[in-house]
Amino acid sequence: MIKDSIEIINNKIRKAELKSGRKEKSVKLMAVSKFHPAEAVLEAIKAGQLLFGENRVQEAMEKFPAIQEEYPQCQLHIIGSLQSNKVKNAVKIASCIESLDRLDLLPHIEKHSAALNKNIKVLLEIHTGEDSKSGFESEDDIRKALAEIEDKYPHIIPAGFMTMAPFTDNQTEIHKAFEKARLIAEKMKSEYHNFDLSELSMGMSGDFEIAIEEGSTLVRVGTAIFGERDYSKK
Ligand SMILES: *Cc1c(COP(=O)(O)O)cnc(C)c1O
Repeated sequence: MIKDSIEIINNKIRKAELKSGRKEKSVKLMAVSKFHPAEAVLEAIKAGQLLFGENRVQEAMEKFPAIQEEYPQCQLHIIGSLQSNKVKNAVKIASCIESLDRLDLLPHIEKHSAALNKNIKVLLEIHTGEDSKSGFESEDDIRKALAEIEDKYPHIIPAGFMTMAPFTDNQTEIHKAFEKARLIAEKMKSEYHNFDLSELSMGMSGDFEIAIEEGSTLVRVGTAIFGERDYSKK
């Protein structure tokens, strides 16, 4: 049952917070509903879950407008790499784009947010794991993105950082990836006082407890809530 899974994950999050000396409830849970139907999302909402993540805009557009009409408090973040022709819809349905991984998305995001008269949050994706191709590679690239947003894009609100650890059982490697993201995030926070860069989105079903130890403020959990994804369906 989705409700039971959400309760189990929330308990594990609270335990991990305690274990790593984090403040209680300092870590938020996002339910990643990709490849799962709207009914599953509704079941999660009834269990009190209000923050969701989707990695494909097309799929999100099929599910979320109707859900958000019924439950306006329900929030969606886009967490997958974005093509520029998908930005318009992404900005329409999401409150945050967590997968900002390159500069050339910025003018598109600004244009469509301005047209909707809506401010949109973004997290800058940091490349830490070998398996993921996306994300900013260097601190200088991140500085460049933040400076450009500050100069030119008033509807884009940088809110922090996101990363994906490598897909491995090697716990040391996972720790290292999350630590790298945290150190970069801390450095950028100390340099840019005009933005609140406090969000650090990291950790998935298999590694969210490690991510919390390393400073995550937002964990993105799919499989452990909704079960395995059936990729043959899409
Ligand atoms: C699919 C996905 C998740 C959730 O992964 P699970 O292992 O199912 O918890 C988290 N973050 C991103 C970016 C994803 O694409």
